[in-house]
Amino acid sequence: MVVFYRRLPNFGYLRPRDLDEALDRLAEETERGSKYRVLAGGTDLVPQLKSRAVAAPEFVIDLKGIAALSGLEDGAEGLRIGSLATVTEVAASTVVAARYPALSLAARNISARQIQNRATIAGNICNAAASADSAPPLLALGADVVCLSRGGERRVAIEDFFTGPGRTVLDPGELVSEIRIPPPGEGARSLYLKLAARGRMDLAWVGVAAAGEAVNGGVENIRIGLGAVAPTPVRARKAEAVAQGGLLNPDVVAEAASAAASEIEPREDSYRASPRYRRLMVEVLTRRALEQIAGQETKA
Ligand SMILES: Cc1cc2nc3c(=O)[nH]c(=O)nc-3n(C[C@H](O)[C@H](O)[C@H](O)COP(=O)(O)OP(=O)(O)OC[C@H]3O[C@@H](n4cnc5c(N)ncnc54)[C@H](O)[C@@H]3O)c2cc1C
Repeated sequence: MVVFYRRLPNFGYLRPRDLDEALDRLAEETERGSKYRVLAGGTDLVPQLKSRAVAAPEFVIDLKGIAALSGLEDGAEGLRIGSLATVTEVAASTVVAARYPALSLAARNISARQIQNRATIAGNICNAAASADSAPPLLALGADVVCLSRGGERRVAIEDFFTGPGRTVLDPGELVSEIRIPPPGEGARSLYLKLAARGRMDLAWVGVAAAGEAVNGGVENIRIGLGAVAPTPVRARKAEAVAQGGLLNPDVVAEAASAAASEIEPREDSYRASPRYRRLMVEVLTRRALEQIAGQETKA
């Protein structure tokens, strides 16, 4: 596919100074029936506006000036990722690397430094691309998305957040204020494996995240998140069921990996990778991810 970049279309630009003002503007514009888009880092939205992949809005509401949406904090309640926290902040965090390694690996595998400095994790999931690198780790780590509007706040499990390619459960007037990840349990392990033509410089052909807790020689509470293999990022529930509650020996790992390959719905995409290739690679990467979670040596 060739993308011809054009000028940005004309639109009004609003830059609220605080959360109250942003929520008021969102409520007013929604009530008026205006077409608006929320802007965070703009690394998805700006190219989409230029290429006319999204319709020109009447207003762009830029969240970047809202201090309450920034920052990363970790504590007894787990990790809070403010919706303006950049990919760079997450990638550079030693706390995230130590306690939520799957997310750290995903952040470090999103494109190059220029993009990471602007892009946000919230923008990555709100854009709702099947290949969004942060989605599989957030699925594996059991994250919740906090959706906020003038009407109040609701927490949505990340697995219920995506409704289709480019679509989420966000209602008009709502924004994502933060993402929450529960604190890791005893013996928690997680990782993210990304397959792409040019490594981190490219969108994932397949992304696999796995998380679990090493207990008594086995691994419990296994969760597997998959990217780029279905219309939305998904959990590999059949594979999780196979891998659950026992020793992750080579037979169980192979069966779980094969279950993951059987439960996906890769789309026809002659540009990046065929469905058959994605299925094969999901099996390979799920096997490797589970082997690593189990502390085994990974075979090719
Ligand atoms: C060269 C290049 C390379 C890239 N490489 C990768 C890659 O390797 N892996 C990857 O996953 N992505 C990649 N991307 C995509 C993009 O950088 C990420 O998806 C990024 O995380 C988007 O964040 P952002 O803050 O820039 O979002 P924006 O572009 O600001 O917004 C994206 C969408 O989310 C909405 N939105 C943003 N924040 C909120 C909010 N708080 N509440 C409600 N809606 C919101 C916007 O309205 C828009 O629809 C790449 C992009 C480019 C241009």
